[in-house]
Amino acid sequence: MNVTDCLFCSIASGKIPADVVHESETLIAFRDINPQAPLHLLIVPKQHITSLDTAKAPHQSLLGDMVLVAADLARTESVAGHGYRTVINTGVDGGQSVDHLHLHLIGGRQMEWPPG
Ligand code: AMP
Repeated sequence: MNVTDCLFCSIASGKIPADVVHESETLIAFRDINPQAPLHLLIVPKQHITSLDTAKAPHQSLLGDMVLVAADLARTESVAGHGYRTVINTGVDGGQSVDHLHLHLIGGRQMEWPPG
């Protein structure tokens, strides 16, 4: 995919608006447009990485930052005490619908297992 056609690249560059809750030089986090729980955020690297399947060793620090930002946001959004779920859908069987790596942070209700 051409990066200029990528939805999350367009959100990261400000071309497409989103409800942004956190931004750094390397990451952006915003509210999911179709929330699956009272809290549903997406933590997204600004750099275009198609999926976890294409992430490599040089992305190690970025991947770590995504997880730590999710934990920080869970605290600031007041779900950390009760718990929450972090998910990276990868590829067709993983249910990935946007081909730009992202971490879902979902909370505010009891989660079920196994996931659908
Ligand atoms: P996934 O299915 O794991 O690839 O997740 C993609 C997520 O992006 C879905 O939960 C969508 O609801 C969400 N999404 C799609 N378009 C937008 C948008 N413009 N702003 C915020 N979230 C979006």
